[in-house]
Amino acid sequence: MPELPEVETTRRGLEPLLVGRTVRSVRVHNRSLRWPVPRGISKTLAGERVRAIDRRSKYLLVRCMHGTLIIHLGMTGHLRVIPAAEPLRKHDHVELLLDDGRALRFNDSRRFGALLWTKDDPLVHPLLTGLGPEPFDGAFTDSYLAGRAKGRVVAVKPFLMDAKTVVGVGNIYASEALFRAGIDPRRAAGKVSRPAWQRLVTAVRDVLAEAIEAGGTTIRDFANSAGEPGYFRISLRVYGRGGEPCVTCATPVKQVRLGQRSTYFCAKCQK
Ligand SMILES: [Zn+2]
Repeated sequence: MPELPEVETTRRGLEPLLVGRTVRSVRVHNRSLRWPVPRGISKTLAGERVRAIDRRSKYLLVRCMHGTLIIHLGMTGHLRVIPAAEPLRKHDHVELLLDDGRALRFNDSRRFGALLWTKDDPLVHPLLTGLGPEPFDGAFTDSYLAGRAKGRVVAVKPFLMDAKTVVGVGNIYASEALFRAGIDPRRAAGKVSRPAWQRLVTAVRDVLAEAIEAGGTTIRDFANSAGEPGYFRISLRVYGRGGEPCVTCATPVKQVRLGQRSTYFCAKCQK
């Protein structure tokens, strides 16, 4: 499933190919994504010029002159910008034909992705409102986390993975960030110290930044039919290493289920 780093890498890859382009027309080959592609999207988008491509959480925001196309990649979605004459592939559900002879194609085998249009500020769209801060935003601080965690008995790992706390920290990234911050993933959120929250803020940003950087080197070119985001492997220090020696102290890495998710940690290094 595309995580925040993959979506950010997609955004960076698409930006130079789409910004300034005008949509000539839209072809919808299959409307039934997670939510139906709005009827009339062809009429709405025809003639729209792309102003910018932003990201909020795992939503791509293709900002046009009169509204914003909100795209979510779901479980298996990906986007390509290719010559419009190139034959359709299986699961190419929607294509935006551009004024430079290319097309933006949305491919999604499992169809959990979405393509929606809003004329309003996309940040107040029902899907996006109520989300926590972006991990790289100045609002994501130790004092914010301490305030939100106050009195909470929920374990810190599911607390961190809750999009209302902060967006974009998936299971692997949560395990890795908690290891780097030296925090036991089972610890009650309300019992995490202020210095530990500060370490966690830094660790979350480091882990995600590394993944985004790895993605940037993995995907050289979105403008070819092979260019599609994969999973960006950061160097995993605990995740998937159950029973193997901790990279810091050689104690075997523990694996537990926490909030129904595989969780890896070092009981000696993480308190
Ligand atoms: Zn250790």
